[in-house]
Amino acid sequence: MTTDCWLNETLYPHWGQRFLVKRELARVQSEFQDIVIFESYAHGRVMVLDGCIQITERDEFVYQEMLAHVPLLAHGAARRVLIIGAGDGGVLRRVLQHRNVERAVMVEIDGAVIALSKEFLPAIAGDAWDDPRAEVIVGDGIDYVARAADASFDVIIVDSTDPIGVGEVLFTDAFYQSCARVLTERGLVVNQCGVPFMQADELRETSLRRKRFLPYVSAYVAAVPTYVGGFMTLGIAAKAAGIGAQDAAEIRARAATACVLGTTEYWTPEIHVGSFDLPPYIARYLPGA
Ligand code: SAM
Repeated sequence: MTTDCWLNETLYPHWGQRFLVKRELARVQSEFQDIVIFESYAHGRVMVLDGCIQITERDEFVYQEMLAHVPLLAHGAARRVLIIGAGDGGVLRRVLQHRNVERAVMVEIDGAVIALSKEFLPAIAGDAWDDPRAEVIVGDGIDYVARAADASFDVIIVDSTDPIGVGEVLFTDAFYQSCARVLTERGLVVNQCGVPFMQADELRETSLRRKRFLPYVSAYVAAVPTYVGGFMTLGIAAKAAGIGAQDAAEIRARAATACVLGTTEYWTPEIHVGSFDLPPYIARYLPGA
């Protein structure tokens, strides 16, 4: 792939999107996946893993803000956060915007994703890599949670690839059972659960699995332009009730006191609360729907 050729996303065999490539920046076959980073005309730089669009400079803010700020503000007092995947560093950067976060551990299986993101997508992580509260580990997320101490994290954020290949283990009973043990009593876990319009099973199956180990299961949505097929859905599960029940005033107050969000381009307290109001075509995939 050189300049002015098209890159076709291969997530769905019969439907997808394509990008006109201005310039290919990197193409690496790592131990785990095929990694491509290119300069696009309309979305800035783009990272593709095994043919699936992972992140673009143009719309990464939507996904990263919702994957980080919603669970941390739904919890309200998270000090220790575990991030699994998220090799581009965008979730880490936003988690560290929260003043009350004392420790953010990021476990990414593929060191090549981190290295290439640092080199070609530096704006996504900013200076998060150097934050003294951050600990970045190259390893398998399922191994890390299996060994982690009981009640050692308040929030677990899983920003993985889809449940095929290396990402598959992050959608299993064993993983959620470990998460339930590792989370504190008001802890909660968030998983990227794909685009239900095309990947309904990902939300349905993983919500049922989370329900077996965490009593309160819900989901919320974000409109990420380059995750084609409508709303991107984030599955969330907690040990305590009330995940999606807060009102905007309460969330605004928490954001004002517990963290320094800087400017957000997608997340607002109203978007936070409204994102849990699922359209019926998505709500039907949650347990008990
Ligand atoms: N935002 C993207 C999405 O929603 O598809 C995900 C981006 S992020 C780059 C996905 C990361 O998950 C990749 O870097 C991949 O290496 C990592 N990953 C996949 N399986 C993993 C595992 N078992 N443990 C840790 N990281 C994993």
